[in-house]
Amino acid sequence: MMPRAIKLLGNAVRVLLEETPKGLDLDEVRMHLEQVPHVVAVHDLHASTVSTGMPILMAHVVVERGLTMEDAARILSQLQNCLREHFPVSIPHTTFQLEPEGYSSASLPQMHS
Ligand SMILES: [Zn+2]
Ligand SMILES: [Zn+2]
Repeated sequence: MMPRAIKLLGNAVRVLLEETPKGLDLDEVRMHLEQVPHVVAVHDLHASTVSTGMPILMAHVVVERGLTMEDAARILSQLQNCLREHFPVSIPHTTFQLEPEGYSSASLPQMHS
């Protein structure tokens, strides 16, 4: 009896601690996002589930320097299309912060889609 009870408790604790929604592999999400053209790296990737259902996603996306606003807008929509096609996340509530390569995030204004 005891080992079984402990196992169940372990699962419950893990679920509570695990912010990442079930079925969403953040490593896989990162790999996808980094394959979008002009994206150099992705960090601070977080996902959480809101009470209304679908997971939302937040990420800092480092892009090549010297891109125009049009480039940035295209990258944002490509990032969202990638998620929409490949992962069960809620796109309207997904936030990407684009960061030019070589800059620290602290000095940058946020770019919203
Ligand atoms: Zn950052
Ligand atoms: Zn994808």
